[in-house]
Amino acid sequence: MEEAITKGLVLYSRPYKERDRLIKIYTEKYGKCQFFIKNAAISKFAASLQTFTTAELIATINDSGFSFVHDISEVKHYQHILEDFEANAYASYVVSLADIAIEDGEYDSALYSFLIQVLNMIDIGKDVQIMTNIFELQILSRFGAGLNLSECVICGRKDLPMDYSFSYNACLCKEHFDKDLRRLHVQPNVIYMANKFLNISLEVLESISVKENMKKQLRNFIDSLYDEYVGLETNAKKFINNMDNWADIMKK
Ligand SMILES: [Zn+2]
Repeated sequence: MEEAITKGLVLYSRPYKERDRLIKIYTEKYGKCQFFIKNAAISKFAASLQTFTTAELIATINDSGFSFVHDISEVKHYQHILEDFEANAYASYVVSLADIAIEDGEYDSALYSFLIQVLNMIDIGKDVQIMTNIFELQILSRFGAGLNLSECVICGRKDLPMDYSFSYNACLCKEHFDKDLRRLHVQPNVIYMANKFLNISLEVLESISVKENMKKQLRNFIDSLYDEYVGLETNAKKFINNMDNWADIMKK
């Protein structure tokens, strides 16, 4: 048990028993914690601590069981994410990935900062698909898959067209495509763009624009990586896939 002051992002808030609420918050200093809010209807915290809200918390953090909020300040709601259907869907997916990437109570302030940065970018209207792709690629290492998309695993060359191979869990250059005939057969420019996303720093991110066709191919490539290395599709991701399908149907 520890008295703490920490920043936090509300992952979700849900009813508990008849009158109480459970609020899961990703705290900067203590990882993800479950907070118990008694008598939610009259709690001064329950209404403020909604999904897509950040706040500074004064709290009792318990290693096991529930934690408790004593005071909150600097409450900020992600307004655009809360109001925009598409931004909300993608932000929900990003948050769900952060939620499954680490165990409750596991300290990971780098992931916390990265998540907040990505949500900030989505909230000011940056391209949701690009932001999501960058987040997905950069947190794959949290699932045990450290990607290297910059060089051929056989010869180390970086200047030739590349494809990805699950047999090697790495890239093969054009000269070594024959090492794995069942390689992914991804277009070399998709690997190139994914490598850029994997290594980009959000602080220096200028407005990247990516063509629709490239976005689709990146989506497919990253889906293949997640199928292989994570093997778990969240409801938020299923929702995005359905949303994309509807969008395609509407265009026809
Ligand atoms: Zn090679």
